[in-house]
Amino acid sequence: DPKVRTVGYGGYTDNKGEVTLDACIMDHKGNAGSVVFLKDIMHPISVARKVMENSNHVMLAGKGAQEFALSNGFKKENIISIQSIKDWEDWCKNEKEINNLINEDNHDTITMICIDNMGNLAAGSSTSGLRYKMHGRVGDSPIIGSGCYVDNDIGAAGATGHGEEIMKTVGSHLIVELMRQGIHPQVACKEAVDRIKRKYNSIDFQVAYIALRIDGKIGFAATDDSFSYNLSVNNSTKNIGLDKDKGE
Ligand code: ASP
Repeated sequence: DPKVRTVGYGGYTDNKGEVTLDACIMDHKGNAGSVVFLKDIMHPISVARKVMENSNHVMLAGKGAQEFALSNGFKKENIISIQSIKDWEDWCKNEKEINNLINEDNHDTITMICIDNMGNLAAGSSTSGLRYKMHGRVGDSPIIGSGCYVDNDIGAAGATGHGEEIMKTVGSHLIVELMRQGIHPQVACKEAVDRIKRKYNSIDFQVAYIALRIDGKIGFAATDDSFSYNLSVNNSTKNIGLDKDKGE
């Protein structure tokens, strides 16, 4: 959906007017695949899955990731929408500064955690990254342990938001390790957020985490109350959040 401005086709460009995609995936056996700085491919998460399934590696970058995608049946496609180009041209004319903060208006990496009816976990994260990011910048989303992490004995966690802060605290891995110590997923997510918050007197960026323990217990925490997550059980999906604007 090109109207979704934070992933794949229609995503915001970087500071050079290019859309570069990052994604990672991890399964219940601890296998992982990731692509970074991938251009002209519509679904980076599917390429990450092929890296996991069809290569001996975990992470492929840039041109090599694209060559791997093409050799695995993906097509080169335009993923830059007209709107993304227009917005970038306006930004060049009017703002032309590196906006290196992620806040509630400009991000929404897709991160998902699933558990199947055999009790096996998987997680994935996919993004076009920070709007007008420096050309070459890679965020947390394709980094195993930051964007997402799975340990099928314990649980899984995933992140969205300001990637630099998530990477510096390896947030998703941290949450799984806290759950390993018996900490409830909700408390573990909050601790991962607090570890970031404690470094600053006040913050003007957003980070959010979701977690799913192997017994089905879930956790969610964000740096502020304007974020929410979707919970799907037996084909029914609820949006759950603390959005003050909606009066919840
Ligand atoms: N986590 C992503 C990044 O830092 C941004 C996002 O959440 O939209 O690239």
